[in-house]
Amino acid sequence: MEFSYRCSVCNASYDITPDLTVCPDCSNQQQKEQPLTGVLEVELHGVSDIQFAVSDLLPVEPVYFPPIPVGNTPLWEPANLRRTVGFNRLFIKDDGSNPTASFKDRASFLVSAAAIKFNIQDITLASTGNAGSSMAGVGAAAGQRITLFLPKTAPQAKLVQSLQYGARVFRVNGNYDMAYAMSIKFSKRNGGMNRNSAYNPLTIEGKKTVSLELFKQLGRAPDVLFVSVGDGCILSGVYKGFRDLKYLGLIPSIPRIIGVQAETSDALFRAFNTGKFENKPTSTIADSICVDVPCNGIHALTQLKRFNGEMMTVSDDEIILAQAFLSKSAGLFTEPAGAAAFAGFQKAAPELDPKAVIVILTTGNGLKDSASATLGIHMPETLIDSIDDISFTRQGHNL
Ligand SMILES: *Cc1c(COP(=O)(O)O)cnc(C)c1O
Repeated sequence: MEFSYRCSVCNASYDITPDLTVCPDCSNQQQKEQPLTGVLEVELHGVSDIQFAVSDLLPVEPVYFPPIPVGNTPLWEPANLRRTVGFNRLFIKDDGSNPTASFKDRASFLVSAAAIKFNIQDITLASTGNAGSSMAGVGAAAGQRITLFLPKTAPQAKLVQSLQYGARVFRVNGNYDMAYAMSIKFSKRNGGMNRNSAYNPLTIEGKKTVSLELFKQLGRAPDVLFVSVGDGCILSGVYKGFRDLKYLGLIPSIPRIIGVQAETSDALFRAFNTGKFENKPTSTIADSICVDVPCNGIHALTQLKRFNGEMMTVSDDEIILAQAFLSKSAGLFTEPAGAAAFAGFQKAAPELDPKAVIVILTTGNGLKDSASATLGIHMPETLIDSIDDISFTRQGHNL
């Protein structure tokens, strides 16, 4: 297989080099407070049979892969949950089981591999939390120096996780946009690779592996896939994987993909309906999908329109209820951003074919943000001194 970059806007083709990020021509038209213009995609040239290995379809060879087991996440067949919701072919792809407990490891892995290949020791990025802790962990395995710019709102657990992995962390007195700008200036001054989502084309390319794995695990593409959306990089990665499979003749068509956003952070949902991105302040319990300007918005929107994708929103209450429901009925504790995808499924369920092969992508582990999860449970308030304090009257299930 041969690989090159292609601009998602002007179609210009480029060789894959470590210092090329967005399209040099189209990025001249970049407007302030708008999504990135000129996002590059990796293009495949070649043929493959059904026995392909996921690494065959990646632009960095396995000899450069960092020594950390990213991907190959389990596809759950949640029998109890299936019975409860009445969908017999419902699956959950749990990416919270990645080494640093989020989907972001797929992107960090390929960026780390490219840095090894091109002999680059330094990787820098801005992150709201998971991308940073992911790059810190994967980089630690590879022996790379990781520098993070985190906005001041980054959740404590994700900050602690990044520091545990030994990353150099700068806490920015401002929002993600400010951290993003600083990280790019820093990379330009200090050299090394920049892993900002979408800005580095290998982030989306790494994320496509989830679709390749789903194809291998199911023996086909799903009928419907629910994915939570912030910047839209996972969404584009998911599409890229299926597009590669279609290009290779392994699937007949691109599945129905439903992007789910929080009602109070719905930039891509609005742009899907109006055609333009309007900057509006956001806030949601699902911090990983709390995004003012989705950096991969233009690219994600193009995919959605081209392949009949859909966008929907769910409220924070629906997310918290979905999180608790998924935990209790499947034994899967995912962070609010992951639960948003399940909340989307619950909301859309009346219109879905109960016989369809449906996949919910859960993108992060619930322990990353246990504070939010407390909203969906009842904390036992009183301390007991003996089991005589327990009332056995209710259903005999108090223990
Ligand atoms: C980053 C992230 C998302 C959203 O991905 P985008 O590429 O920003 O759309 C969803 N869930 C979790 C847990 C994440 O970390």
